[in-house]
Amino acid sequence: MTENPFFRPSTLDYELPPFAEIREEHYLPAYERGMAEQLAEIAAITADGNPPTFENTLVALERTGELLRRVDVVFRNQSSSDTTDVLDEVEAKVSPLLAVHHDAIHLDRALFARIEELYRTRDRLGLDPESLRLLERRYGAFERSGARLGEAEQARLRGLNADLAALGTTFQQNVNAANRASALVLDSAAELAGLSEDAIAGAAENARVLGHEGRYVLSLQNTSGQPALAQLTDRSVRERLLAASLGRGIEENGPIAIRMAGLRAERAELLGHPSHAAYVVADETAGTVEAVSALLARLVGPAVANARREAAELARVAAADGVEEIAAHDWAYYSEKVRQESFQVDAAVLRPYFELERVLRDGVFFAANLAYGLSFTERPDLTAHHPDARVFEVFEEDGTALGLFIGDFHARASKRGGAWMDSLVEQSELTGQRPVVLNNLNIPRAAPGEPVLMSWDEVRTLFHEFGHALHGLFSRVRYPLFSGTAVPRDFVEFPSQVNEMWMVRPEVLANYARHHGTGEVLSPELVERITAAEGFGQGFRTVEYLAATLLDWAWHTVPRGEEITDVEEFEARALAAAGIAVDAVPPRYRTAYFQHIFASGYSAAYYAYIWSEVLDADTVQWFEGNGRPVRESGEVFRRELLARGFSRDPLESFRAVVGRAPETGPLLARRGLL
Ligand SMILES: [Zn+2]
Repeated sequence: MTENPFFRPSTLDYELPPFAEIREEHYLPAYERGMAEQLAEIAAITADGNPPTFENTLVALERTGELLRRVDVVFRNQSSSDTTDVLDEVEAKVSPLLAVHHDAIHLDRALFARIEELYRTRDRLGLDPESLRLLERRYGAFERSGARLGEAEQARLRGLNADLAALGTTFQQNVNAANRASALVLDSAAELAGLSEDAIAGAAENARVLGHEGRYVLSLQNTSGQPALAQLTDRSVRERLLAASLGRGIEENGPIAIRMAGLRAERAELLGHPSHAAYVVADETAGTVEAVSALLARLVGPAVANARREAAELARVAAADGVEEIAAHDWAYYSEKVRQESFQVDAAVLRPYFELERVLRDGVFFAANLAYGLSFTERPDLTAHHPDARVFEVFEEDGTALGLFIGDFHARASKRGGAWMDSLVEQSELTGQRPVVLNNLNIPRAAPGEPVLMSWDEVRTLFHEFGHALHGLFSRVRYPLFSGTAVPRDFVEFPSQVNEMWMVRPEVLANYARHHGTGEVLSPELVERITAAEGFGQGFRTVEYLAATLLDWAWHTVPRGEEITDVEEFEARALAAAGIAVDAVPPRYRTAYFQHIFASGYSAAYYAYIWSEVLDADTVQWFEGNGRPVRESGEVFRRELLARGFSRDPLESFRAVVGRAPETGPLLARRGLL
């Protein structure tokens, strides 16, 4: 019996977790010991007979919980990117325990008393700005977590947190099961008419793997919209596919959503806020429900008008097929036709220009070199969490080693949908650790021996997630609490969205968008048409996004005690009330599979994407219009913003780059909402 590899710090380069040694049975004991160890470390802080000092309390607290952090980052990634029944069980066990653990720390009165005493005398402690901020943020976090409540209220709060954690895990596992159960199974290849040969072969292979040998299976992606809807010529198949998508999970997850919204409202009230949304945004850069509502309200009208204009355009093309009214399952299909007809852009023609390896090295890495001087060396000697995942060492322009980047690009049945970034090791000057960051995507595999070709959206996602990776890699803070992407949710999508700009930057595009067979460069003229065609879809994209955002908002501005009985009716009412109900444009996520808000950290925060996009569009304009060389602008963005993490007010970091407060003009222009 070998020792649990989590029990000691990794001895690998960059303290990369020792994936080769980690087994499923190591997680639970490591979690248990990790939580116990952290509580013991905290008990030692509160038992200190000396009066509290910044060093013996705040810094000591930052140093606690190392083992727990080691196991937690690895487990969260593993259970998302390559889960098993055993890991699902561990997650179901652990998530309520973690909620209890979080409360055990934040409701520890002796610990809070020490922090409070320091907080009261903070002006006299002679702290540097980052240390002062650590004290203020920690104090605020304890307050927000209920440290001031009485005994009975704290007991209720503990119960609410544990219940919510368990419900969130069940919700997620139900989504995974519903995605599998709702996949569309078709009998004949004829029903798949319109899809490429590769895609039809993929559906056959998918059927084989899922035990439907001889048939064809279209698996569901996370979002309401499904890629095949753009190509399937058989209208009834489109209708069935979209119905499967929109209807999944409602029976299992509808009641859970109702319950969670109720518990969240109760918790918000307990903590002194009128709604869960008010509680959440108080700690975001937006600050208030009103600020968020005002931005959303400003966008709804113009977005809906755009979508209606697009619908009229689609109807014109669809009339030729005898389609009288554009239904939701027609939208993507006829959008594709309009793109081909009006812009002469065919999605299928683009794919051969986007080969994964080339997009990664000659696009994403190339842009990081252009803007920040980085270079990348693959390290096949280092083992990641899955054979698909690749490890790269990242170097500064002067050759200094910066950190590790792990890319796990492919879809598999054991991976949840979507794309995301994780930090396996967080940079901190206090702990001396350097960053290890990871990107997960869901790009379908190619047939053996064939190159992996990507869609335009997948290319964008690769640049986006790498933007998060850079945020983690460039972190240069003292305290782990502020490291890299540990910024508010309505700020964290900003650097990643900014990184998307490189995708279409002419010198970058010309470097990576080459035909995998002929080496021919994607013509600038075609790129121009793609960009124009992108503009055409903005009405749809903005409305589907805003509809999901306003659903999230509706669920989380419900005052305590308001009874919701029927989820579908609630959705319909919420969308109508917000003026975003466009029949043929369903929300990007419906309640029953809206994992962001019921199973991960985005409850009352889905608005964060558009909020961040205000900063993003403004910054891209700055990059393009400031007259400095790219490399110099990159350096400013890195030094003043990416490197700072949460060690100072994020909006101050923004101002340090752009030279003023954010403005909405560039976003409105980009989305055609002026
Ligand atoms: Zn993101």
